[in-house]
Amino acid sequence: MICPTCDGTGTARGFACGNGRLLTSWPCDRCGATGQISDEQHAEIERGRDVRAERMARGLTLRDAAKALGISAVELSAVERGRVDPAATLEKLRALS
Ligand SMILES: [Zn+2]
Repeated sequence: MICPTCDGTGTARGFACGNGRLLTSWPCDRCGATGQISDEQHAEIERGRDVRAERMARGLTLRDAAKALGISAVELSAVERGRVDPAATLEKLRALS
């Protein structure tokens, strides 16, 4: 499976500062610079999207949802990007009234 973060190049790119002049790149940390992710990693990304969709459906901001779940916005953001296994978070989010 091609890594969606680096598009299979193994290198993530971005602008280091706001003026758009300094383009930097670094070894992609999602796929370990291989350009490929496992089916399992892909499934986690998909589940992270489910968490985000569930949050949006409830009209919650990242911050509000994180507060309700008792985690930080940074953690929730990581969950939504599939960096942290989203299954438990999705369950908790669905359990919110
Ligand atoms: Zn990658």
